[in-house]
Amino acid sequence: TTKIGVLAVQGAVSEHVKALKASGAEAYVVKNVQDLEGLDGLVLPGGESTTMRRLLDKYGLFDAIKTFSADKPVFGTCAGLILMAKKIEGRQGPHLGLLDIDVKRNAFGRQVDSFEADLAIKHVADHYDGVFIRAPYIKSVGDGVEVLSTYEDNVVACRQGRFLTCAFHPELTDDLRMHRYFVRMVEETV
Ligand code: GLN
Repeated sequence: TTKIGVLAVQGAVSEHVKALKASGAEAYVVKNVQDLEGLDGLVLPGGESTTMRRLLDKYGLFDAIKTFSADKPVFGTCAGLILMAKKIEGRQGPHLGLLDIDVKRNAFGRQVDSFEADLAIKHVADHYDGVFIRAPYIKSVGDGVEVLSTYEDNVVACRQGRFLTCAFHPELTDDLRMHRYFVRMVEETV
């Protein structure tokens, strides 16, 4: 079985661990650089991207994840998506900058802080209940990025090679199909 880590400096960690295990992978929490050893893939969960970045620097994980991602699959959800983006509106420079996407944080506005939407996700599901919490959306994607899902003309899930990302929280429902898709990606890479 494949071994997948969940970055555990902040945010929705245990739900991802549970979903990965239920999807047929071994799942481990990643709190420091050593925890990355022997893993085949990594999940960057939701939370608050600015805080997560600060903690990545503090624990030396920023460079370690950059190195890890050079040949291993990474799945970022919500704040994790922001960490992976090459361009973030209103911010000078990216965080990890893994994915050729341009994102807007808290993009759905205050009135609709959180909501659920019925999504079609390419390769994954015709109907999928997407849970959005102060979510970002993807304003544009570069060449080689496959759009997997849109909501009201905004891109909310995409894939570029070994990198997968979504603006919603797949760990907060019992639907395992996004996690299963990532586990398959990891299996195909190992
Ligand atoms: N708004 C958060 C950020 O900008 C992301 C929210 C989430 O992960 N649920 O980092």
